[in-house]
Parts: sequence; structure tokens; C-alpha cells
Amino acid sequence: MGSELIYRGSETQPSSDSYSPKPVKPWASVTRPIHYLLREQRLLFVFIGIAIATLIFTVFPTSPAPYVAPHSRFTTLIPDSITYFPIETQQKFSSAHRLGFGSANPTGKIPLGLKRKGLRIVVTGGAGFVGSHLVDRLIARGDSVIVVDNFFTGRKQNVMHHFGNPNFELIRHDVVEPLLLEVDQIYHLACPASPVHYKFNPTNVVGTLNMLGLAKRVGARFLLTSTSEVYGDPLQHPQKETYWGKRVRSCYDEGKRTAETLTMDYHRGAGVEVRIARIFNTYGPRMCIDDGRVVSNFVAQALRKEPLTVYGDGKQTRSFQYVSDLVEGLMRLMEGEHIGPFNLGNPGEFTMLELAEVVQETIDPNAKIEFRPNTEDDPHKRKPDISRAKELIGWEPKVSLRKGLPLMVSDFRQRIFGDHKEGSNTNNASSS
Ligand code: NAD
Repeated sequence: MGSELIYRGSETQPSSDSYSPKPVKPWASVTRPIHYLLREQRLLFVFIGIAIATLIFTVFPTSPAPYVAPHSRFTTLIPDSITYFPIETQQKFSSAHRLGFGSANPTGKIPLGLKRKGLRIVVTGGAGFVGSHLVDRLIARGDSVIVVDNFFTGRKQNVMHHFGNPNFELIRHDVVEPLLLEVDQIYHLACPASPVHYKFNPTNVVGTLNMLGLAKRVGARFLLTSTSEVYGDPLQHPQKETYWGKRVRSCYDEGKRTAETLTMDYHRGAGVEVRIARIFNTYGPRMCIDDGRVVSNFVAQALRKEPLTVYGDGKQTRSFQYVSDLVEGLMRLMEGEHIGPFNLGNPGEFTMLELAEVVQETIDPNAKIEFRPNTEDDPHKRKPDISRAKELIGWEPKVSLRKGLPLMVSDFRQRIFGDHKEGSNTNNASSS
């Protein structure tokens, strides 16, 4: 067989055989994918897939369930609720949530794969009364919380139920010493809040300066818990030189005023994002029993069958805010866009005698009232105007004194008569 391979390179091709690309069909790019989808029932499978995914996202909320300490015997506040549930109820609540029934997630349902990114948050004074309730809410929301506390008035027991939770850390540290932590937000509460304690240890300016320095260094948002005491006693008009700075309490209110000034200076001068809350009298579970504040004083005295000590004529007024309302206000302020200052308090105004009556109704109708001479600098009136908070951060308190007081009483009853006995020195009181 002769070779079939014939060299044709020199042959000239007829001009009609020369390569010409297929003419482009103008609608091919649109019609081809449609044809592809319509073939072999592919479209049907796409719809079935979408339907299944929608069903899963709707029925099974997938953001992390609030952490509930497994063996805590302490009660914890359920977000947005005035009710303290025993821990068993919370465990049921949270496991129901994990299984997808009910919606306990305070930030709403977030579909699979789109989890709300938890923030890293420092709460100075987080082992104290207000701080520990704030920590509960932040942890339940899915944030990582670092509590910095020197335990001057705070107690480890207030945050013990979070031990073992990887989202929780506790550092024993005095904020008068600098501290470096990488965080997104700083709630600065570290400061003794009751006259008994702040007269003994008034420092809070240096701590505020350190925490503002930290906020500046790491670019964190900073919230200062100031106080209604910055308004002094509004009955003194006009103010004499002897008024400001001469009160025994001024270590507290001047300290807070300086803290507010420093906070604004860091905002204006260094661009730190800041928030300022002016907190009015707050009460609730985990309040220090012997701190001399009037609500804790009356409740402890009534439970111990001691007379309720009313200072002065008992006609001085205060407004009492339940702690869950305050925590809600603080969180709204931190997350919102307004600096403040914002009054956070309950406008319901009570004289000390009226408060004593509510305590009698709640604990012991036979409890006696004993009058004592008033302290020289006890403010005559205190009631917040909260229209700014209502308008700009959409906040107002929800829990009345008659609803909130019984929740505090059961906590005090357990701490006074339970296994954890407190001292009985409740005499050094004021209407604060
Ligand atoms: P609290 O005494 O229960 O809590 C204060 C916490 O700060 C405690 O845990 C204490 O150990 C800690 N602390 C104090 N000095 C510290 C320091 N140098 N370093 C680290 N930790 C320190 O008081 P609270 O009632 O929870 O008040 C919290 C904040 O709210 C305070 O700043 C207070 O001035 C403010 N405030 C509270 C009220 C109120 O009615 N509770 C009213 C106005 C303002």
C-alpha cells in the first residue's frame, strides 16, 4: 500500500471554502439560558429549592440562643421583661429557643449564615447592682463581655452565673490604673453610687480618664453613667458661693460633673464617640443591702421587722426606676446616634412617707415608721424630665414601683434569710 499522505500545502483552496465565523444570533445570550432552564424540569427543581430554604429560615431561627449558666441558683432578668424567672424556666425558655420554637432573641430572627456579629464590650463596675444586670442583657444578646471591677461595692455572686461562659471574662482591676483591652464599646459604671460608699471612697475622675484614654486608643464607643446629683438641690435659688462644692456629697456630684466634662472634651478634642446618661434613683434585685439608699433600707428593715427610718419630715420626694428599665435605656443610648446627656429615670414621684407606705403594703402592713433628723444635704425634690429620651432614643420606663418592688423583695428575702446572711447595719440612710 502506497502512502496516502500527500502534501497539499501548495494546493490552493477554492475561495468559497475559506473559514467564516457563524453569524451571531442577537437573542442567543437571552434565549439560551431560558432554554437550558426549561429543559429537564430544571426550573421546577429551582422553585422546590427556594421553597425548602424559605421554610427552613422561617421555622428555625438560627442566631445563638442566650447563654444560661447550667447550675446557677441566681435569678436573671429576661430581656424586655419585668419578670424574674427562676433559672429552670429560663433553661426551658432557652432550649425552646434553640429548637426553634418561640423567639427569645432580643435582636430578632436572623437567618442561617447571617448571624449578628457579637460586639466586644467592657463593663467597668459590672459586678455591681446596675452593671450586673447590664451584663446579663449583653450576654443574652450574644456579645462578649469583659467585666472590670475592684469589688469595692460589687460582688462576684452578681456575675457568677456567667462563669464558664466563653463570652464572659471577669478582671479584678481598679480603674484608677490604666488598662489596655481591644473592645468595641465601653460602659463605664465603676464608681460607688451610694452616699455611704462614695463618702468613704469618692474617686471616679481618674478612672473615667483612663477609660476615655482606652476608648480613644482602640476607637471604642464610650458611655458614662452620670447621675441626677449633678442637678444638686434645685430648691436653692439663687445659688450662693456656699452651694456648689460645699456639700458633703459634692465628692460624688462634682466627680460626675468633671467626668461629663472630660467625656465631652475627649469627644470634641479626640473624636471619641461618647454617650452620657444621667441616672435617677434605681432599685431592684442585687442592690447592696447595707448601702443606705432609701429603697434598700426600707425593704431590709421591713423584712427584719425593724422600724422604717424616715429622715426629716418624710416629705422630700424621689422617683424610683426599676433596674430593667434603666438597662434598656443604657443600651438604647449606646446603640443610638445621640450623645446626650439623657435623663434616665422614672417620672413617678413619691415622698419618703409614700414610699414607706408602699413598702408596708408589700411586706408588712404593721411595720412602724421612725423619724430621725435629716442629713444636711439631702435634696428636697427629685424627678426627671424624660422628654428628650422619649423623643430621641424612644425610651421610657415601663415598670411601676408597685410592680417592681415585690421583685426586689424576693431577692432581699433570699439574701437576708437564706444561706447568705448580710450585716444588719442599715441605719446610715438617706433618700438617695
Ligand atoms: P454599685 O456600687 O452597685 O456598682 C458600682 C461598681 O463599681 C461596683 O461593682 C464596684 O465594686 C465597682 N467599682 C467602684 N470603684 C471602682 C474602681 N475604682 N475600679 C473598678 N471598679 C470599681 O452601684 P450601681 O448602683 O450599680 O451604680 C452604677 C453606676 O451608675 C455608678 O457609676 C453610679 O454612679 C451610677 N448611678 C447609679 C444610680 C442608682 O440609683 N443605682 C443613680 C445614679 C447614678
